[in-house]
Amino acid sequence: MNTFRVKVLEIQENVPNVFFIRLERPKNFKFQAGQFIFIKKIVNQIPAIRAYSISTTPQQKEYFELCVKKVSGGKVSPILCSLKKNQILEFKGPAGRFTLDKDIKGELVLAATGTGISAIKGILVNALETGFKNQIYLFFGVKTQKHIIYRKELEKQKKKYKNFHFIPVLSRENWVGEKGHVQDPIKKYAKKLNLNETHMFICGIPLMVQETKKLALKLGFQEENMHFERC
Ligand SMILES: Cc1cc2nc3c(=O)[nH]c(=O)nc-3n(C[C@H](O)[C@H](O)[C@H](O)COP(=O)(O)OP(=O)(O)OC[C@H]3O[C@@H](n4cnc5c(N)ncnc54)[C@H](O)[C@@H]3O)c2cc1C
Repeated sequence: MNTFRVKVLEIQENVPNVFFIRLERPKNFKFQAGQFIFIKKIVNQIPAIRAYSISTTPQQKEYFELCVKKVSGGKVSPILCSLKKNQILEFKGPAGRFTLDKDIKGELVLAATGTGISAIKGILVNALETGFKNQIYLFFGVKTQKHIIYRKELEKQKKKYKNFHFIPVLSRENWVGEKGHVQDPIKKYAKKLNLNETHMFICGIPLMVQETKKLALKLGFQEENMHFERC
């Protein structure tokens, strides 16, 4: 794993307390969609190491982006979320095996909660842009509509690619769409899938990963087709 020093190109709050941090991409920084980096040091701040998933795809050569939740009382995330354009930070990477094998034959079920969408979005956009033709279902669990990170971008992708189905699941708002926990609607959709070949990618807090995996196994997904990242 190499260490890089890069400039912050842009930072913006997308939904309350979740920031997109766009960083310049060194030419020799190669990664696969779904991987993460370790932030090592923010210049003039206390060194600290934390992992953050990359939300953009390897095709995007000029920059890469992180999606960071500002954790109240956290050591690192509040510093990251208050970075300014042109500040320098140090990271090492890439790391992780939460990546999509090009040769998979089946359909894709993606499940994310909160900033777990970061790695999932990287995998999703990469699959769509590189010609993945099978059906892709994204279940994204958040509290209310105003917490749907990347909403505009994901809705745009849904219009562009007929094989992409975007299913936000809200736990604290009554609306026309799916309600409850992220795994709840998966039961309904699983009936349409060939579960022997469908691959599932899950990214979220440990409890969500554990419960979604448990449900998927009960429904008949194959353990070897399940991929997860806890964040
Ligand atoms: C592989 C991997 C990928 C990750 N990717 C991302 C990512 O893309 N975006 C992202 O924002 N984070 C991501 N994380 C989490 C990230 O590494 C940090 O743990 C997180 O930002 C909190 O760090 P902190 O220093 O601010 O808080 P800390 O000082 O470490 O923790 C302070 C307190 O906050 C609690 N806490 C930690 N995280 C959360 C949370 N998310 N919500 C509520 N309370 C919390 C801790 O339990 C602790 O009590 C990832 C973690 C892993 C392991």
